[in-house]
Amino acid sequence: MARTNDVTVVGGGIIGLTCAYQLACAGIGVTVVDRRTCGSGASWAAPGILSAPSPHRSDAMASLQLISLGMYPTFCAELHERCGIDPEFTPCGSVEVFFEDQQYRMGLSRADATEGQVGDDGQPILTMLSADQIGDVVPGVRSGAMGALLCRRTAQVRTPRLLRALRASCESLGVRIIEQVDPVELMIESGRIAGVQAGVETIRCRQAVLSAGAWSSHLRHLDRPVVEVRPVRGQIVLLRCAERPFVPVVEDRSCYLVPRPDGLVLLGATVEPEAGFRSRVTAAGISSLIQAGLRLVPALAEASVVNMWAGLRPDTPDHRPFIGLVPAVEGLIAATGHHRNGIVLAPVTARAVTDLIIRGATDFDLELCRLDRDVSWPADTKHPPISNESASYGRPGR
Ligand SMILES: Cc1cc2nc3c(=O)[nH]c(=O)nc-3n(C[C@H](O)[C@H](O)[C@H](O)COP(=O)(O)OP(=O)(O)OC[C@H]3O[C@@H](n4cnc5c(N)ncnc54)[C@H](O)[C@@H]3O)c2cc1C
Repeated sequence: MARTNDVTVVGGGIIGLTCAYQLACAGIGVTVVDRRTCGSGASWAAPGILSAPSPHRSDAMASLQLISLGMYPTFCAELHERCGIDPEFTPCGSVEVFFEDQQYRMGLSRADATEGQVGDDGQPILTMLSADQIGDVVPGVRSGAMGALLCRRTAQVRTPRLLRALRASCESLGVRIIEQVDPVELMIESGRIAGVQAGVETIRCRQAVLSAGAWSSHLRHLDRPVVEVRPVRGQIVLLRCAERPFVPVVEDRSCYLVPRPDGLVLLGATVEPEAGFRSRVTAAGISSLIQAGLRLVPALAEASVVNMWAGLRPDTPDHRPFIGLVPAVEGLIAATGHHRNGIVLAPVTARAVTDLIIRGATDFDLELCRLDRDVSWPADTKHPPISNESASYGRPGR
């Protein structure tokens, strides 16, 4: 299909690819440029938990998360139909197990706050399970828990499949994908975007989306980062059981377990801002995860360890993403810094970005995501040095 290049998307993770997909669906000519390979960053590393915000929260960020979660079934069904790859969106629920009194009380107050609220299936959205009931929902959990909060709205998606489905759907819509190019630089002329320099290729465009994840602050204007995003490493261990050990996502204060239908269980995740751009797995990280996982579900002791990897979450000083027009550069839109929620927030982010590209405004409330909000990193936190270390994970099918 012959297309003009109207918009260039810089960074092809879940955020960039979902933006490219929505823009292409709206008939806009899109080029995605990735310094490495699309879908090889944090998005591939994530287990794909799609969680609802805590019912205590009523801020605009919480409502964006809920809207985005609500978009997921149609989003995945549409991709599946378009390209034949099923991202396996699965409403599975989650169970948060409490072993300490204070956490248990907080769980009770969250359940109380939603009393009377039911989901589409007519069931309460949150239920406090008694210690005796936990084993019925999650066989094999350590005894001694005070209770556990069952959240029925939590779902999961298989992120590597979602990324493949997005890429294939983008390509079927005529999106051009350019990978393995370095350096990638924004071309800004008289305060407005004029194009993107991708290695030796100059891509002219009047609008661009900055979605380079943890590396977003490497894109500069007037010798300064356009956005202040920093990496937070997360490590994951992949286990295999003879069969699916339980259905919901299970978590406590130190780890979570995400069971897939085929017996794979993802155990995550470390939170390591001090690691900078070093995306390797470490003995300390993996050992702490395995200890935490077996403390929570001792019955997993005989599971095989089949893989492990690390990814870099894109973080911001207030952990909220930057989504919106970049004030100093006309035609440049940021969609980055989604920290721990980039998978769940991708559909709503892409819809908002598409609105901003097409009509310069959106009905979604992006107030808390504005680029000119008053946030900065504490002066004593060090900027991580730029590193070219590559992610150290293997790539077998997950
Ligand atoms: C261990 C772990 C567990 C997680 N679990 C969950 C979860 O269960 N649910 C959830 O919602 N979120 C989760 N997250 C967070 C989520 O993965 C991220 O918020 C999300 O993937 C960010 O997507 P992104 O597209 O912004 O970044 P990325 O996926 O990192 O993509 C950025 C892309 O930009 C490219 N790039 C970098 N620099 C340049 C450049 N200069 N020019 C062009 N391209 C460039 C990179 O190569 C990469 O492909 C998790 C993250 C980690 C690490």
